Amino acid sequence: MFQKCLNQILDLIMPQVCYLCGQQSDHSAPICKQCLTYLPLHQASKSCSRCGAKLIKNACGCHITLPYLSYVKPVFNYEYPIIQLIHSAKYRDNLVMLRLLSEQMQKHIHFLDKPDCLIPVPSHPKKLKQRGYNQAVEMAKVISSYTNIPMLNYLCQCVKNIPPQASLNDIKARQKNVKGAFKVFPHKLSNKIKHVVIIDDIVTTGSTANEIAGELLLSLTSVKKVGVWCCAKA
Ligand SMILES: [Zn+2]
Ligand SMILES: [Zn+2]
Repeated sequence: MFQKCLNQILDLIMPQVCYLCGQQSDHSAPICKQCLTYLPLHQASKSCSRCGAKLIKNACGCHITLPYLSYVKPVFNYEYPIIQLIHSAKYRDNLVMLRLLSEQMQKHIHFLDKPDCLIPVPSHPKKLKQRGYNQAVEMAKVISSYTNIPMLNYLCQCVKNIPPQASLNDIKARQKNVKGAFKVFPHKLSNKIKHVVIIDDIVTTGSTANEIAGELLLSLTSVKKVGVWCCAKA
């Protein structure tokens, strides 16, 4: 805890040096303006329009594996330096980097159909206690503040302390791992929600988001569409 506070204080008082090129950053951000322009934006034209996966041919089986999700919108390609930036934000308490990634997400996400609310992928309370923050909640907070779309992070909660999805390779194991891990707790206003967007840092197979979407569709009859905005699609 002490180390975490110290790092945050150092971030505030030390001159910002770009995390990628080492030059002094001119706008007190962890990445300089020039390096920001080189971040690999996701190209929708080269991906499945539904799940965001890179298409080798025009075929993707996501309507079978992810039946509850209407769409997945990744902002960046899952490659250098995005993998390293997300890792730093997620595992090294780099909250300044997390904020920058969140701001980049809101800057590059375009939508015609405005969702009614944002739901960050919930962490189990034990995991939250260990890490001290949930990166998806921090991302959703920033996106909500820019877009005025409310974040409802208590509507869906993680009720099973499951092994991390990243520790499992195959899609069947990941689907099984998240089964029953999330529960929706409706409140009196939630019966007006029609379109939900789940916020996550990395979507890999999409099994976690699909499980949450299934719970939302089952628990709230008003919900008709569940999509995902994520920093990157692996
Ligand atoms: Zn730079
Ligand atoms: Zn697909």
